[in-house]
Amino acid sequence: MSDVRQHAEDIHDQFSDHLDITVDDVEERLTTLVDEYKVPVDEGRRSVTNHYLEEAGLEREDIARGGSEAVNVEDIDEEEQWVDITAKVIELWDPRSDSVAQVGLLGDPTGTIKFTKWAKSELPSLEEGGVYELRNVVTDEYQGRYSVKLNSTTVVEELEDDIEVGDDTSEIEGALVDMQSGSGLIKRCPEEDCTRVLQNGRCNEHGEVEGEFDLRIKGVVDDGIDAHEVIFDAEATESLTGISLEEGKEMAMDALDTTVVADEIREKIIGTYYRIEGPTFGRYVLADDVEELDGPVDAEQLLIKARSM
Ligand SMILES: [Zn+2]
Repeated sequence: MSDVRQHAEDIHDQFSDHLDITVDDVEERLTTLVDEYKVPVDEGRRSVTNHYLEEAGLEREDIARGGSEAVNVEDIDEEEQWVDITAKVIELWDPRSDSVAQVGLLGDPTGTIKFTKWAKSELPSLEEGGVYELRNVVTDEYQGRYSVKLNSTTVVEELEDDIEVGDDTSEIEGALVDMQSGSGLIKRCPEEDCTRVLQNGRCNEHGEVEGEFDLRIKGVVDDGIDAHEVIFDAEATESLTGISLEEGKEMAMDALDTTVVADEIREKIIGTYYRIEGPTFGRYVLADDVEELDGPVDAEQLLIKARSM
């Protein structure tokens, strides 16, 4: 089979549910571009795909790239991959946008992952506690957290068998050796669904906005073997330092400077040993449960070690 014919078949497969076209139609279009206009075949394929996308009124992500691969949840570490997963619906959340039909958390024996089902996908409703084989979902990433999107090409099949959902929490025991920038009193974008941390009063997505204060620590915990990046939210920060969001705001107001909060936090936590438990999101562990440990802590030594990593 010729190269062009193979490409034509692939394109035809992607659109066969959406358009009344034959492989010959696609091949003719592609051959014209390649033979008459001397367009490289890959570029021709893109151009022909775009033509049919427009004709079908579809977005690129609506069509399958063909040959999605069955994966475990924990193996999803790249965006824009077409994959098949078998997972249980652990939780459903309220969609915050009309374009989303369902949003929630899926789990398989290896871990959990957020899913979004587009309203225009017109897929059947997933039930909490239900186990499904989801073929042809596309992966996405936001701030180091992966998710899967169910689109109009996704095939949903409910399964009879229950599956055990794995625990993807991490437990780290070690010394807090460093605190990264973006810790302390920060401001977040108030736009719905955004919550990005502002840089100089600006959101990457929404520009200049009136931010909302939040308190967090991005810490580095050394367990003697590895350095782990751990995020402590406002609640965890308060339990670690005794500084609440309100107190943090007051401290910043008194000093006319938000950096005093980070300085104070740093003083309280660096060199302290903790046992930290929480879910892993990308490279971060979110500290859900924190316990302070006592033990011989030589902060100076640890800092030297941390810097050498
Ligand atoms: Zn924003």
